[in-house]
Amino acid sequence: MNILVINCGSSSLKFQLINSESEQCIAKGICERIGIDGSMITYAPAGGEKEKTVTPMPDHTEAIRLVLEALVNPHTGVVKSLDEIGAVGHRIVHGGEKFAQSTLITDEVIAGIEECNDLAPLHNPANLIGINACKKLMSSTPMVGVFDTAFHQTMPEEAYMYGLPYEYYQKYRIRRYGFHGTSHSYVSRRAAEVLGKKYEDLKMIVCHLGNGASVSAVKNGKCVDTSMGLTPLEGLIMGTRCGDIDPAIVEFLAHKEGKNIDEIMAVLNKKSGVLGLSDNLSSDFRDLEAGYERGDENAVRALKTFSYRVAKYIGAYAAAMNGVDVICFTAGVGENTPLVRTMVCDYLGYLGIRLDEEANRKRGEDVAITVPGSATTVMSIPTNEELAIARETARLVK
Ligand code: ADP
Repeated sequence: MNILVINCGSSSLKFQLINSESEQCIAKGICERIGIDGSMITYAPAGGEKEKTVTPMPDHTEAIRLVLEALVNPHTGVVKSLDEIGAVGHRIVHGGEKFAQSTLITDEVIAGIEECNDLAPLHNPANLIGINACKKLMSSTPMVGVFDTAFHQTMPEEAYMYGLPYEYYQKYRIRRYGFHGTSHSYVSRRAAEVLGKKYEDLKMIVCHLGNGASVSAVKNGKCVDTSMGLTPLEGLIMGTRCGDIDPAIVEFLAHKEGKNIDEIMAVLNKKSGVLGLSDNLSSDFRDLEAGYERGDENAVRALKTFSYRVAKYIGAYAAAMNGVDVICFTAGVGENTPLVRTMVCDYLGYLGIRLDEEANRKRGEDVAITVPGSATTVMSIPTNEELAIARETARLVK
C-alpha cells in the first residue's frame, strides 16, 4: 500500500509517499511559505529530478491539493490516480495523556487533539489544519495520527512529575511529556535489530541530536525517562533553545533587560542554545565543527558545553536504569558529527566505552562505533521518522 506521510507546520508542509511493502520512499517534497507571499512547492520523485515551483498557496488545503496534483502528474508523478494512495499518516506533535499510541483519525480523535492544543499552541493547530485539508480532498482515504509524545507515555510518575504544587498537574496536566518519540522508538528498535539482540532485553539510551535535541532512556523496550518536558525547551542545549536553566533566570533577565515574558521566551527558544553560546557564530553544527577545527573560541565553548550536557544526561539515565547496554546517536548532528560523538564519549570511560576511531568517522550509516568487547556498545543509527509513521499507519489501516 502507498502511504502519504504528512508533517504539517504553521507555514510549511513536508510530505513523503512511502510504499509500505517495500518500505521505499517513492516521492517526497515540501511546501513552504503557505499563506505568505512567495509560496513554493519542492517535489522530487525517487531517482528523479527535484523541481521547485513558485505558486500561490493561500492555505494548507491548496498546499495539499498541489501535493496530490504533483503525485498524479502524468509526466513526473508516481501514481496514476489518488486511488493508489491507501492511507495518510499525520505527524502530530502533542497527544497529551490522551494518546499513548498511534490511532485511526475519527471526529472524536480530532476533538481529542484539539483538547491538547493548549499544550502545543504552535504545533497542534497546524497539524489539525493538515488533517482537515486531507479530509476535504481525500474524504474516503483512512488517516492515522502518530504522536511525538506517545512513546514517552510509559514513563513512571517519578520521571514525569515536576516538583511543583500537585494541583497544577491536576488542573492543567503540567508534567513531562517528551518529544521526538517516533524517532526514539524507531532508533532504539533499529539498534537492537542491527545488533541481533532482543529489544525487550536491553537498557538503551538514545541521543536524538538535531536542531531540536533530546535524550531518552529505554528499558526493556519501554521509555522510562526523556529530557524534553512539558514543551521541547527543557533538557539538552539545542540549536537555538537553551535547555535546562535555573528558572529564576527568567525573572532576573526580565528585570535587567526590561523584557516581558513573551520576549524572554523568544530569547530562550530562538537566541540561545549553541547559537547564543557561540556568541551568534551559528546554530548549524557544520559551522561549529569548522570553527572548532580552526580553534575559534566561540565554537569551542559551544561544542564543549553542548557535549558536556549530553554526557550528563547519559550519566543520569544510566543511573535511572541501573546500567546501560547500548547508547545510540541519531538525527542531523548525531548521525553526521564524529567530533560531537567523540567529545561525549570522552566522558564515558566509566562505562567501559572504547571507541573504534575508524567506525566513528562514518556518517549516516547504521554502525557500532565502539570496538568489539567495549563494555557498552555505542552506535550511530540514522533516524527515519517518516518510515516509522508509514509503518504505524499501515499497521492500523490493515
Ligand atoms: P531538525 O530535524 O531538528 O531540524 P536535523 O536532525 O535535520 O534537525 O539536524 C540539523 C543539524 O544537523 C544542523 O545543525 C546541521 O548542521 C547538522 N547536520 C546535518 N548534516 C550534517 C553533516 N553532514 N555534518 C555535520 N552536521 C550536520
